[in-house]
Amino acid sequence: MSYTMKVLEKVIQQNPNEPEFHQAITETLTSLQPFVDAHPEYERAGILERLCEPERVIIFRVPWVDDSGKVHVNKGYRVQFNSAIGPYKGGIRFHPSVSLSIIKFLGFEQVLKNSLTGLPMGGGKGGSNFDPKGKSEREIMAFCQSFMTELYRHIGADTDVPAGDIGVGEREVGFLYGQYKRIVNSFTSVLTGKGISYGGSLTRTEATGYGLVYLLDEMLRQHGNSIENKTVVVSGSGNVAIFAAEKAQQLGGKVVALSDSNGFIYDPEGIDLSVVKEIKLIKRGRIYEYTDYRKKAVYTEGSRGIWGIKCDIALPCATQNELNGDDARELVKNGCFAVCEGANMPSTSEAIKVFLENKVLFVPGKAANAGGVAVSGLEMSQNAMRTAWTFEKIDRKLKEIMINIYNNIANVAKEVGQEDNFVVGANIAGFKKVADAMLRQGIV
Ligand code: GLU
Repeated sequence: MSYTMKVLEKVIQQNPNEPEFHQAITETLTSLQPFVDAHPEYERAGILERLCEPERVIIFRVPWVDDSGKVHVNKGYRVQFNSAIGPYKGGIRFHPSVSLSIIKFLGFEQVLKNSLTGLPMGGGKGGSNFDPKGKSEREIMAFCQSFMTELYRHIGADTDVPAGDIGVGEREVGFLYGQYKRIVNSFTSVLTGKGISYGGSLTRTEATGYGLVYLLDEMLRQHGNSIENKTVVVSGSGNVAIFAAEKAQQLGGKVVALSDSNGFIYDPEGIDLSVVKEIKLIKRGRIYEYTDYRKKAVYTEGSRGIWGIKCDIALPCATQNELNGDDARELVKNGCFAVCEGANMPSTSEAIKVFLENKVLFVPGKAANAGGVAVSGLEMSQNAMRTAWTFEKIDRKLKEIMINIYNNIANVAKEVGQEDNFVVGANIAGFKKVADAMLRQGIV
């Protein structure tokens, strides 16, 4: 058995009951195999064993009191996965599904994603099984303060820089940051995704969604195609989905659907994003409310049905494993020719296989959604320089970074004889830089 497959088998065996982590490392190591096995120096230095083992895992108790005076306890996590190329960097997720497996898969993906941005950021991820849905503002604040009261001792502007993810937006980052500053008595760039009034970066809110579409646009352009007049289905209705839809519309695409965890809306005339922003970003409501505003729109229960809508381009921007093999076959049958992942690992392994076999232009999340963390890196730079750049300047840099990522993964895929296999391209390109840094830093 090859070195790569031996490591994969051992890591799975040594980390039982972590299905999402197994899925992420299987996808990555399988596509790295020919490359890694052709370079014996990686085996000599135990690079893969070290890459798959987080440098540090912190699990802690998060006690908090609800509005009725009842005490609750949640689990808090921070997985500091790899710091070979920079301080640990990656978001915090608050969602009832959060487990060690979920945080480890996200942390592992983050290492390669951050490497692809070209910026000096290592990889980490954190979160809690706390469910923010239906909680009052005071309860959210109490939870964030309790979470940070433990987390603060493990992070720092040059050590580990968390940000948002599912369930953690600007409001939560604000509460987390306020508590950090209160404890350590220092105003540093320890979190990104901050509000503009206290060190946040313009374009950060839009970055993941815009970046996704910049990369898509470049890929289509290099294949003699464009977004113009294409029908686009976007799943999710958080920041990633909303701003992916916005940029796709700006480039002439027709976005006809969005979803949340309960169901999806289909608007044959094209989604009116001002309505969606009002419902989701201002009222914190549910996507079915869209039909109150737009009479021709239809709401269907069950979010998975969104992949049955006929489209040219699909942008899964909701959550892990939201798109399975059957969904992928349905998309292919309906003529979908490009899929870019705005979420982390939204396609199952079977779905990815279907896309690749059918020559769908498929870009995995670690490359396609790297715009968010890239602008987080730019937020760190601005904070370090004690300056603030304009929206236009950051947007320009974001676009440049996404085009570079596309060219990098496309070139690497071609070099290894797998043209247009962006899974292989992204994994090898992301891995190379991290592995090189690890080789040079010795056995640590
Ligand atoms: N949570 C985002 C991601 O999956 C952003 C992380 C960050 O900005 O640090 O990449």
